[in-house]
Amino acid sequence: MNTPNTPKKPEKPEINGIAPELYEIISAQREFFATGKTRDIAFRRQLLLNLRMMIRDNEGLILEALRADLGKSYHEGYLTEIGMIEQEINHTLRYLKVWNSPKTVATPYYLFPSSSKKYYHPRGLVMIFAPWNYPFLLAIQPLISSIAAGNCTIVKLSEHSPRTTRLLCELIDKYFDREYIAAYTDSFEAVKAIRHEPFGLVFYTGGSTVARIISKAAATQLTPVVLELGGKSPCIIDKTANLRLAARRIVCGKLLNAGQTCVAPDYLYIDSSVKEEFIGYVKEYHDKFYQAAPCENKFYPKIINRMHFERLRNYLKDGTILFGGEVNEDTCRISLTLMEKIDRDSKLMSEEIFGPILPVFEFNDINIVINTLRKRPKPLALYLFTKSRDTRDMVLNNLDFGCGCINDTVIQLANPHLPFGGIGESGIGRYHGKAGFDTFSAESSVLLAPSHADLNPFRYPPFDDSYGVLKLIFRYLI
Ligand code: NAD
Repeated sequence: MNTPNTPKKPEKPEINGIAPELYEIISAQREFFATGKTRDIAFRRQLLLNLRMMIRDNEGLILEALRADLGKSYHEGYLTEIGMIEQEINHTLRYLKVWNSPKTVATPYYLFPSSSKKYYHPRGLVMIFAPWNYPFLLAIQPLISSIAAGNCTIVKLSEHSPRTTRLLCELIDKYFDREYIAAYTDSFEAVKAIRHEPFGLVFYTGGSTVARIISKAAATQLTPVVLELGGKSPCIIDKTANLRLAARRIVCGKLLNAGQTCVAPDYLYIDSSVKEEFIGYVKEYHDKFYQAAPCENKFYPKIINRMHFERLRNYLKDGTILFGGEVNEDTCRISLTLMEKIDRDSKLMSEEIFGPILPVFEFNDINIVINTLRKRPKPLALYLFTKSRDTRDMVLNNLDFGCGCINDTVIQLANPHLPFGGIGESGIGRYHGKAGFDTFSAESSVLLAPSHADLNPFRYPPFDDSYGVLKLIFRYLI
């Protein structure tokens, strides 16, 4: 695996501007797709069953790789990566036939006796870019939707999670033929391929800098893109909230994967009258969940690498530590850290934290919070803890965000019926469950006219200037 920003010199000459190994995969997949085999629902179901078998047969190896890359315990690895995939595969197997069946839509009376339907087709060749933070889940979950929709897929895995990436390369090669599913690891060559070859879809999960590189490359071929990005997701606690529950769920959601979760609460607004009580509960639940020394706790995940560890450690200088602040260089761990008195122009408040640090801001008037948040980029997630229906409605009616919870955090991802994705700067497009099938499918809209009746005389020439009846119909009857 080479790093994405340092192009290595290709050993063999490129073919059409693409590395030969990748070109071979693309050509083989194009040829296979053209056979029409992936249009068969039974074939797609079989691939999903193979995928499930691949995961069940190798569960221990996958959990071990996740532990090596991110220090995840088996429990957390299963809960947040493998379990989610089991559920997504089962859900897809259950509904695939229904999702794929043509859907009748209404037809206006002036088109009588025609009817109208939407048909679903595979998009063709798809390239999926997976990130390092949930290196198994975020490679396989979009792959499930891609298989379900009947595409051939190249999964580009992240270089920052080497153990999981290596394992996934081996497993995908062992359980699938490269002509319909292939794993790939060279980011630089993958982007070149997108620039030189049209794809049915490029599906990218990661940061916004690389998203721009990928979107630009895809635009060269007018290839559509889905971008699953991140950003700063706020969490709000008002004075009516159940503070114990809020503390338990915020500590849990923030510390999943040590905060390296795209939908983790990034910063907190809390009514000043309940702040002290809330912090007390945070301490209680933190100690209950991770004991007094989280940096030595082998069940607490680590920061992915030294670069991200240093980035996070530097944030600790951007304010006053309210709670936590422990770091351990040797284990690459940082404890849950609540911070206050933060300069709003600091890096801590201008960049996505993506770690276990939680800035805390107090408020006395929720309208001011709403006005402040409206001026910021639209976040991927938003969380609100309140018992007040008015506060809930005010927040939901006035703020835009990709997904979220009322009185919980992160758990929205556990519902496959809820489409997942960002909005504005946090992303383009949706997936999970049916939304994933729809995103990875191309829709054909078809008007089905019977051949025995032709009832609309206005559409046929010769046209003359007596269009008065037509005008009346368009103005008052259509
Ligand atoms: P990353 O570094 O793993 O990059 C993502 C993908 O892009 C990887 O496949 C990587 O190999 C590839 N890549 C990296 N540099 C590249 C380059 N120069 N050219 C082409 N490809 C390149 O992940 P990251 O960007 O550090 O991910 C963290 C970000 O992802 C955070 O902002 C987080 O919020 C976001 N994220 C979003 C979601 C979501 O579902 N919305 C999920 C996870 C992470």
